[in-house]
Amino acid sequence: MTSLLSDANQRLDKALQYVTLRADAVERLKMPKASLTVSIPVRMDDGSLRVFQGYRVRYDDSRGPTKGGVRFHPNVTLDEVQSLAFWMTFKCAVLNLPFGGAKGGITLNPKQLSKFELERLSRGYIDLIADFIGPDIDIPAPDVYTNAMIMGWMMDQYSTIRRQITPGVVTGKPIPMGGSLGRETATAMGAFFTIQTLMPKLERQPNSTTVAIQGFGNAGAVIAELLFHAGYRVVAVSDSQGGIYAPQGLDIPSLRRQKEATRGLQAVYCEGSLCNWVEHQIISNAELLELQVDILIPAALENQITAENAAQIQAPLIFEVANGPINSAADAILESKGIQVFPDILVNAGGVTVSYFEWVQNRSGYYWSLEEVNQRLQTKITHETELIWATAQELGCSMRTAAYVHALKRLGEAIQAKGTQEDYQS
Ligand code: GLU
Repeated sequence: MTSLLSDANQRLDKALQYVTLRADAVERLKMPKASLTVSIPVRMDDGSLRVFQGYRVRYDDSRGPTKGGVRFHPNVTLDEVQSLAFWMTFKCAVLNLPFGGAKGGITLNPKQLSKFELERLSRGYIDLIADFIGPDIDIPAPDVYTNAMIMGWMMDQYSTIRRQITPGVVTGKPIPMGGSLGRETATAMGAFFTIQTLMPKLERQPNSTTVAIQGFGNAGAVIAELLFHAGYRVVAVSDSQGGIYAPQGLDIPSLRRQKEATRGLQAVYCEGSLCNWVEHQIISNAELLELQVDILIPAALENQITAENAAQIQAPLIFEVANGPINSAADAILESKGIQVFPDILVNAGGVTVSYFEWVQNRSGYYWSLEEVNQRLQTKITHETELIWATAQELGCSMRTAAYVHALKRLGEAIQAKGTQEDYQS
């Protein structure tokens, strides 16, 4: 199997057909700048000691300190973290944030650890990577199965090590520890603004558009609710256990309430305080992807649509809310079927954009209202979506390639500003 990083690099090669970069810049972007592997010893609640494998990768810092989340997941490998750091580099450039890209991860199933164990693990991870991160070096944030509380522990541990309260070292923190209003919902908000900007261009109306969403976590559940309130018909959702499909549409707010209360997905409609079961089918995650809907939103993990199932995908529009849900082999198959893919590095960039706002607020010491955060997010995402749409029209290429071209121009300028072969030879 090709590594995730070499697959990610294929997107770069494709975009390079449309934009001229100096050889130095291309060379620079092929490999991560620095990768750190750590073994984190954790005292477990039963007194035993377990050692967990952790990573932090800083991919490229030509445009500023590196930025990216930390995930806790059993499938975390160095290769995965490197490719996620690659995507962060392009994502930050797409949104014109003054950041490079990074990512971190710890290989574990967080559901098997107690809260105390998770705290010791998070603090132990920071002990080992403290010299690799910093508000002007590299700034971690939440990702899959990490949350505000974990970010709070990480910031606190870093501050203890430095003997200085340093809120700007981590974003996605709890609000009383310097977090930003709107960060928790930012990924979904950003995706929603992108979809809303593109709907008129795609000549579609929300109330005649059906949607299937894979993943019901921080991103998936919130985007489901935003779309529901905007009049879209959300007909299928799933979590790691499986999914539900109701062609007449699901009542997302009541489904979220049910999920919070029971930890499972149940198709109910609530009126007042009464909830009724609605007719629905139980489907698998794989089946959800192949439903006949207008919009498909993969909002879980990478590599969900590959050469193996791409031919079965029926949705004409796919918005990637997860990072890397479609691999490059599947890209070609979807394109040949006329399916339009709106890429992760644009669609899910709302999270890192509000992380940037959080970092700015931490450094200035002045905090914004929720309206201000969401307004600035909307302005930024809408602006960059319009530019990428125009690039795709102009070059006659996919939105993914257009987004990479858009980011590459900015990355190229930053790398070239330091001098390239041409400058030294002339
Ligand atoms: N983990 C998120 C992402 O993949 C957010 C990163 C951040 O806020 O730095 O975009």
